[in-house]
Amino acid sequence: MPSKIFDHIIIGAGVIGLAVARTLRHLRPDASILILDKEPDVGAHSSGRNSGVLHAGFYYTADSLKARFTVQGSRSIREFCRVKNIPVNRCGKLVVAMDEAEVQLLNELEHRGQRNGSNVRLIDAAEAREYEPGVATYKKALYSPDTASVDPLDILVALKDDLMNAGVEFVFEARFIHHQGETVITNQGEFKGGKIINCAGLYADQVARDYGFGKAYTMIPFKGLYLKYAKNKTDVTMNVYPVPNLKNPFLGVHFTKTVDGTIKIGPTAIPAFWRENYALTHRFNAGELLEILGEEARLFMGNNFGFRDLALEEMRKYDRAYFINLAQKLVPGIDPGGFGEFTRPGIRAQLLDKHRRTLVQDFVVEGDRTSIHILNAVSPAFTCAFPFADFVCREYVLKGE
Ligand SMILES: Cc1cc2nc3c(=O)[nH]c(=O)nc-3n(C[C@H](O)[C@H](O)[C@H](O)COP(=O)(O)OP(=O)(O)OC[C@H]3O[C@@H](n4cnc5c(N)ncnc54)[C@H](O)[C@@H]3O)c2cc1C
Repeated sequence: MPSKIFDHIIIGAGVIGLAVARTLRHLRPDASILILDKEPDVGAHSSGRNSGVLHAGFYYTADSLKARFTVQGSRSIREFCRVKNIPVNRCGKLVVAMDEAEVQLLNELEHRGQRNGSNVRLIDAAEAREYEPGVATYKKALYSPDTASVDPLDILVALKDDLMNAGVEFVFEARFIHHQGETVITNQGEFKGGKIINCAGLYADQVARDYGFGKAYTMIPFKGLYLKYAKNKTDVTMNVYPVPNLKNPFLGVHFTKTVDGTIKIGPTAIPAFWRENYALTHRFNAGELLEILGEEARLFMGNNFGFRDLALEEMRKYDRAYFINLAQKLVPGIDPGGFGEFTRPGIRAQLLDKHRRTLVQDFVVEGDRTSIHILNAVSPAFTCAFPFADFVCREYVLKGE
């Protein structure tokens, strides 16, 4: 039988779980908080495997949680980095157009950005080339000076250290199996808590279902591959993105400048076959394969939200030459021979709305007095983590106390 009763048990030590713990510690200094994670340390999944871009908040419609938290989130992470002496590459970003239709979409992105309080503006092609000499764009580009890059692991480690120093307890390699009343049952024994906050990323839907939530959704994991450009770090000096298809949540193959100036292209959005399908047989899970493949097959046949076209297009990116060719459209002079190997991939914990048969674009929070479930914390949830955690704590975890 568990002896200690925690006020809050957080499942998942990704950026969302850590940010929720940080806010709770701030709002309830005397509360006892436990974080459980099935991995040996922080950052094993999305939070440690992403592009590290602090987004500027111009992709999202004004009614979304993403729009509400991205600008403020980027600001607060940069402030956290300043206080902790964590490097930030303030390299900025260009979104480039290929034709007239994409110029119209750039207008839409500028409009969304302005509504969301993001510092963005349309510039002409000549000005775009002043910022990034090798870039190709049709007539206009969207310029975002505030887009920046970080090493996400730096931030996760600093958060973990702060939380440990503030008395938050961690148990790693403790996998949530199921619950019975207030007791959480893991492979490392039982833990009792007044309130459970599910921040389990790729498994958040399963944990939610164990508590009777998340019934409208199912998980479709999408794999993001990156290719490193190993030639000159100066061949691209800022983040360069294509205009995305606004009907789905992915941004298209782009150039990212990492915090140390390294250039990489990606990420892809290839449908994965199980949740942690990072490589061919990595953490193979037959049950997940059947469930996810079945769902993907139905989406493929029905071509819901253009899934068939998306899947076929994304699968082509396993072909290096094709992948590089997409990047060359943005920066034609980039040397195709300068690309090295595929680097550490990430997998998006993307939810499908089972009834509407569409990918859920925004973050989802469900729960009651005893359990709160953070679902669909997809990009840019890393950027949004601090204000989103504040929202979750005030509006859900502590509401009514
Ligand atoms: C390829 C890619 C690129 C991205 N790029 C960006 C970007 O540039 N900028 C940006 O802002 N966002 C980006 N994102 C999104 C961002 O990384 C995620 O939104 C964010 O990391 C989600 O954090 P999380 O804490 O919800 O999930 P995670 O980081 O996945 O954390 C969940 C944790 O829960 C644990 N867990 C799972 N199941 C259990 C269980 N049963 N028991 C115990 N523990 C469990 C896991 O081990 C994990 O540590 C990207 C994501 C991907 C995949």
